[in-house]
Amino acid sequence: MKIRDKYLSYGQQSIDATDIEEVVKVLQSPFLTQGPKVDTFEEKIAHYVGAKYAVAFSNGTAALHGACYAAGITNGDEVITTPMTFAATSNAVLYCGGIPVFADIDQLTYNLDPSQITQHITSKTKAIIPVDYTGRPADMDAINEIANQHNLIVIEDSAHSLGANYCGRKVGTLADMTMFSFHPVKPITAGEGGIIVTDSEEYYYKLKQFRNHGIVQQPEKAPWYYEMQELGYNYRMTDISAALASSQLDKLDTFIKRRTELAKQYQYLLEDISFIQQPVFLDNFDSGWHLYVIQWKEPHVSRRKAFEFLRENNIGVHVHYIPVYWHPYYQKLGYKKGLCPNAEALYQNLITLPLFPKMENSDIEDVVKGLKKAGDRFGN
Ligand SMILES: *Cc1c(COP(=O)(O)O)cnc(C)c1O
Repeated sequence: MKIRDKYLSYGQQSIDATDIEEVVKVLQSPFLTQGPKVDTFEEKIAHYVGAKYAVAFSNGTAALHGACYAAGITNGDEVITTPMTFAATSNAVLYCGGIPVFADIDQLTYNLDPSQITQHITSKTKAIIPVDYTGRPADMDAINEIANQHNLIVIEDSAHSLGANYCGRKVGTLADMTMFSFHPVKPITAGEGGIIVTDSEEYYYKLKQFRNHGIVQQPEKAPWYYEMQELGYNYRMTDISAALASSQLDKLDTFIKRRTELAKQYQYLLEDISFIQQPVFLDNFDSGWHLYVIQWKEPHVSRRKAFEFLRENNIGVHVHYIPVYWHPYYQKLGYKKGLCPNAEALYQNLITLPLFPKMENSDIEDVVKGLKKAGDRFGN
């Protein structure tokens, strides 16, 4: 007998009738790709986070690429980031010819450790890209202070943390540019989509130009006239996606409330299990609880067996993330294992548990049951 008959994935979107209606309206309208719905969504999200400008992209990776471009990252520029992220974060630096420099994480928050950032600053450093891993904001005051001292640009990868707060301020107001992703497992979805929010007019215009082939409209020269001034891309968001994301944004706070309840339930139910180290709730770092990541306190082989046991029982555990520079592509670039010991140690032990707003309390109980059984068999 399996613990569950139906597979429980680690993350999943919540779509309701309103979302569907909003998408259908676009399908019946003259605009399918970037049009009025994208404009509305950009205004809405800028207003929600409290930023001046927002530029929507076809996905979060494209948005990060745009941010690196707007920041002027180019051949040989170094950009400090965390290895405990999805490859897209540092890939965006590579797209621009920059060099990702990996700094280690803090053992409590799993986010970039500001003191580690400082150690990696050189005359070539141009920017810092902190990631709000699992939805918990990075220590942005400390990071901004370092950036100010060394004249660096801060691009916050907030793919996990739309709606989260840091010291009473919304994520989206804490960096020079902030990226959100609308992939289906993220806080809200557009199917695929991403956005940069910023208070800088200069970045705003660069981002808009970049997502549309580097083209600028110049109707003052002739009514049909436009100019391609830079090498940009087709990174436009569709109105179909924007309508979905707009409708989803209305529910974001409800989603986060539910995620937080579920996280608290894990916290309570896993409290007594000695072989599990749970994530901490920290004042002033109000997580969006995108992921619930625990550490298995037994050696690597047990984590693997426990993982397999849970998957066999239809509990969709995951591992976020393999340290980015461990990937063969990065190894070929010359990054050495051992670079960030804290991130590597975390990777050996972590398991992501299912967490998404539509989960039932009984789903949490199934996961806990699975963890206990796995512990009995392979731990201690
Ligand atoms: C999802 C994600 C991205 C990329 O977003 P996409 O919309 O999937 O391109 C970048 N960084 C992190 C940390 C992510 O989780």
